[in-house]
Amino acid sequence: MAIWVFAEEIDGAPTPGSLELVSKANSMGDTAVFYVGAGSPEAFAVLGAHGAGTVYHLDTGDVLPAAPAARALGELLEGSDTKLVLFGMGNTDRDVAGRLSARLGAPVVANGLDVSLQDTVTVTSEILGGSLSVTTQVVLDGPALVITRPKVFVSEDTGGGSPEVHTVALPDTGRSGGATITERHVEASEGPDLEAAQIVVSGGRGLGAPDKFAMLDELAGLLGGAVGGTRAVVDAGWVPYSYQIGQTGKTVKPSVYIAAGISGAMQHIVGMKGSSTIIAINKDPDAPIFALADLGVVGDLHKVVPQLIEALKSRS
Ligand SMILES: Cc1cc2nc3c(=O)[nH]c(=O)nc-3n(C[C@H](O)[C@H](O)[C@H](O)COP(=O)(O)OP(=O)(O)OC[C@H]3O[C@@H](n4cnc5c(N)ncnc54)[C@H](O)[C@@H]3O)c2cc1C
Repeated sequence: MAIWVFAEEIDGAPTPGSLELVSKANSMGDTAVFYVGAGSPEAFAVLGAHGAGTVYHLDTGDVLPAAPAARALGELLEGSDTKLVLFGMGNTDRDVAGRLSARLGAPVVANGLDVSLQDTVTVTSEILGGSLSVTTQVVLDGPALVITRPKVFVSEDTGGGSPEVHTVALPDTGRSGGATITERHVEASEGPDLEAAQIVVSGGRGLGAPDKFAMLDELAGLLGGAVGGTRAVVDAGWVPYSYQIGQTGKTVKPSVYIAAGISGAMQHIVGMKGSSTIIAINKDPDAPIFALADLGVVGDLHKVVPQLIEALKSRS
C-alpha cells in the first residue's frame, strides 16, 4: 500500500481529523488505515466510507497507545513499498510519528498544510509562526512521515464500502509499553464545540479582565456560536486552555470569526485565518488583525460589543 493513515478512536468513532486524512490519502492513491482503539463494525464502516480500502486494527486497551502503536505500525511498514504515512496533530499522532522516525531512520515533516505524492512526497508547511511558507520534498527510500494541521483537508464520505479489516496483535514493548491510562477526564463545556462551531467569538487581552468574557458568552449565545481566546488570556488564567486558538491551540474554520481585543499575532492567526469572514474589533487602527479582517471596527470593545448584543436582542 502506497499510503497509510494513522487514525485514533475517540468515543467509539474515528476522530474527525483522521477522517480528513483518510479522504486526502484516498484522493492520492490506495489507502490503508492503522486504527488504534476498541474498534467496531460501525467505526470501520465510517473509515471505508471515507476511502479506506484496508484497516489494520490495534486495540491497546488501557495501555498508553503510542509505544505499542509505533512498534506494530513500524513492523508493518518495514520492507513495504509505502511512500507516505499521514498523521494529524493529536498527542498520540505526534508521539507515534516521533517513535517511528527513530525506528525507521526517517525524518518527520510537521505542520503540513498540503501534501502531494508523485515520484516523491512534497509537503507545504509554514514555519516561524506562519510568517514563511516552505515546500519540502522528501527524497527517501522508505516512507515519508508527515504531520498535517487539522482542517486543511476536507473530510468526505464518498460512499466507499466496508474495508478489509486485519487485527494487529498487541506487541510487547517492555518497559516503554508499561504506562497505562487509569482515568479519562473530559473537560465540561457548554454550547457548541469550538472546533466545529460555525460562529466563533474570540477574546484577547483587550478585554482587560476575566469577567469580561461574560459579554462574549452572551454574544456567542445570541449567535449560536462558541467562545475562544488568545494564548495571552489563557496564560493569564482568564479562560481554560481549551479556549486557546492558534499555533499551540486549536484550529478553527468557522463561517464568521469575531476577534475582540485581539492584536493579530502570527501565532494566533495560524489558528483562525481559514475562517470565511473575519470581523475585528480593536481600538488600535494599526493592529495587525485589521490586515486580515473582512470587516474592521476601530473602537472600544466595551462599547461596541454591548451595542452589538443590544442590536441582536432587539431583533429577536
Ligand atoms: C511559541 C509561541 C506560541 C504561541 N501560540 C499562540 C497561540 O496558539 N495562540 C495565540 O493566541 N497566541 C499564541 N502565542 C502568543 C502570541 O504571540 C501573542 O502574544 C498573543 O496572541 C497575543 O494575544 P492578544 O492579542 O490577546 O494580546 P495583545 O497582543 O496584548 O493584544 C491586545 C489587543 O487588544 C487591543 N485592545 C486593548 N484594549 C482594547 C479595548 N478596550 N477595545 C478594543 N481593543 C482593545 C489592543 O489594541 C491590542 O491590539 C504564541 C507565542 C509563542 C512565542
